[in-house]
Amino acid sequence: MTKIMKTGWNLENSYAGLPAHFFTRTTPTPVSAPELIVLNEQLAASLGLNAEFLESETGVAMLAGNEIPEDAMPLSQAYAGHQFGNFTMLGDGRAVLLGEQITPEGKRVDVQLKGPGRTPYSRGGDGRAALGPMLREYIISEAMHGLGIPTSRSLAVVKTGEPVYRENVLPGAVLTRVAASHLRVGTFQYIAKWGTVEELQALVDYTIRRHFPYIEDDENRSLSLLKQVISRQAELISKWQLVGFIHGVMNTDNMTISGESIDYGPCAFMDTYNLETVFSSIDVHGRYAYGNQPYIAAWNLARLAESLLPLLDDDPKKAVELAQAEISEFHKIYNSHWLKGMRAKLGLFNKGAEDEILIEELLELMKKHHADYTNTFRALTFGTKENSVMFGSSEFEQWHNLWEKRRDKQKESKDSIVKLMRDSNPAVIPRNHRVEEALKAAVEQGDYSVMERLLEVLLHPYAHTENQAEYATVPEECGPYQTYCGT
Ligand code: AMP
Ligand code: MG
Ligand code: MG
Repeated sequence: MTKIMKTGWNLENSYAGLPAHFFTRTTPTPVSAPELIVLNEQLAASLGLNAEFLESETGVAMLAGNEIPEDAMPLSQAYAGHQFGNFTMLGDGRAVLLGEQITPEGKRVDVQLKGPGRTPYSRGGDGRAALGPMLREYIISEAMHGLGIPTSRSLAVVKTGEPVYRENVLPGAVLTRVAASHLRVGTFQYIAKWGTVEELQALVDYTIRRHFPYIEDDENRSLSLLKQVISRQAELISKWQLVGFIHGVMNTDNMTISGESIDYGPCAFMDTYNLETVFSSIDVHGRYAYGNQPYIAAWNLARLAESLLPLLDDDPKKAVELAQAEISEFHKIYNSHWLKGMRAKLGLFNKGAEDEILIEELLELMKKHHADYTNTFRALTFGTKENSVMFGSSEFEQWHNLWEKRRDKQKESKDSIVKLMRDSNPAVIPRNHRVEEALKAAVEQGDYSVMERLLEVLLHPYAHTENQAEYATVPEECGPYQTYCGT
């Protein structure tokens, strides 16, 4: 007798209730030999999904797109976007939304398959994804979650048993991505450009209901929506900057309305502090360099504001003024979050007039001495000397004295200052060489243990345990690291 297992699926399809223009009903293309590589049991549990079921033959078939969960209404979303500044029609070229899982806590989250075959938006692409990049997205998104940064999550990666053809022949895979939603700046751009004002209004209403129900009764709802997205993105980007995360491809289609980080293609974490750091092989002009991210975010949000113009005010001139006023708020909001975060990294509870100079001077020293960003703050937290010339320099000693004086001005105890620093400075980030090592073992040897150990460490970056130390080292000869998208 076969056991009937509870699946835990509790899918709704509110997005499918939007006008037809917003999406196309699609079905994943079945694959020949699905094999579960990694399953996020904790995430499954928090979604109300039965991990044991997901590991079963039927469960894996669903994660591969070979079978469709009950009540799913698979579709691919339409969107546009500015890619490196150029506006184009895009859409889910290699993604299928299964539906929205209603969690036991009553939260609504998108469950999306990434790499499930061609869709009406695939253009020249094959709609497929390779195992290495999907495992990379899994590792980085879980690391971001561990760091306390709003992010899409990864539920599972399944090998398809089929090759994908890139520069090399690679093993294919499907990632199951979970996100607050996949509404993007590019969704608004698409409807603003090719839809009607009624459709734009429907999108605004839908977005508010889904993400910002508390502004439902505001007088100018579209303006309130813009404010909310600006504020969430400003906070998000400040968190990226504070941990040295470089997204790599901040196109408007990769910027969410929910305020979660999404689309982990060519992203990577900075080792040596430098505002000009770029990892992506295609970002030849450094448009998406570390130090540019806040400016790009504001630029992207200006594209959102533009898309909303017809709804902001009947008078087009007034609408532009309203939009501009909001966009100019971005840097203020961003800076206040960033400063607060930087203060916490330095163990400062309150605001001091000298703080900005103190922070800038430290960053200058780090730049000058090619100091490792994460390890410098970790060393400051524990009063150890980071292995770099910087810590031995007299200018650093001077800075350190000023910092100590500043810290001593607070009423909080030494212990609580150290605790604040421990909670604000990660012991580990997904170091590029560690990620590569884990992917190499997984893809080339079918050995997933390296990745599993890495994930365990990355999920608790503020634990500062002994076993994290080996993951904190930077190899002497790191060389320039490059990331690639579109695989
Ligand atoms: P991304 O750079 O990952 O944000 O992707 C940009 C656009 O390219 C999106 O519309 C994707 O759906 C599409 N895309 C990326 N890879 C593929 C692929 N292998 N097949 C079809 N479309 C793709
Ligand atoms: Mg994308
Ligand atoms: Mg991508």
